[in-house]
Amino acid sequence: MTLLDDILGFNENFVADKVYESYETSKVPTMKAVMLTCMDTRLLDLSTKALGFKNGDVKVVKNAGATITHPYGSTMKSLLVGIYALGAEEIIIMGHKDCGMGGINVDQVLGTMKERGIKDETISVLEHSGIDLNHFLGGFSDVRENVRANIDMVFNHPLFDQSVPIHGLVIDPHTGEVELIQNGYDKVVSN
Ligand SMILES: [Zn+2]
Repeated sequence: MTLLDDILGFNENFVADKVYESYETSKVPTMKAVMLTCMDTRLLDLSTKALGFKNGDVKVVKNAGATITHPYGSTMKSLLVGIYALGAEEIIIMGHKDCGMGGINVDQVLGTMKERGIKDETISVLEHSGIDLNHFLGGFSDVRENVRANIDMVFNHPLFDQSVPIHGLVIDPHTGEVELIQNGYDKVVSN
């Protein structure tokens, strides 16, 4: 049995037993918020349960490190579309302690890529085309600073409506305890 077999087998029963009924909701977030957090396995449920969110309450965007690497990439797009088209009125950016992207070793990642067959030549072609692989694959050293930097990137984005609060949090992946980094209501600019 592969993972995919397990998934498909489970899903058949999930639908047949109508387990989905307890998850039914609409695509508009009840709590009118969009949250960016990390893809860490420990946060799969914890990131929403520890904040009191259930299915349907918030839009959740997840990536490695809860980080916006590019102002016109998919993460920024998700936050903007969440606000302008999908019913969110507030943004939550939540990093976490003990994040795998904290102090990630880019040389090690590149080394593993090479072991898996990515050629040196490919890497130098990318670097010569202006792709900064250190930035692209890099992480951060301080999670609180990273949350603040992400808030600044959204707040100062030319397409962002500064009357939208952006809250910054850091969650403990063991206990679910959150630390407030930025109260977004303090920073909003009225239209
Ligand atoms: Zn993480």
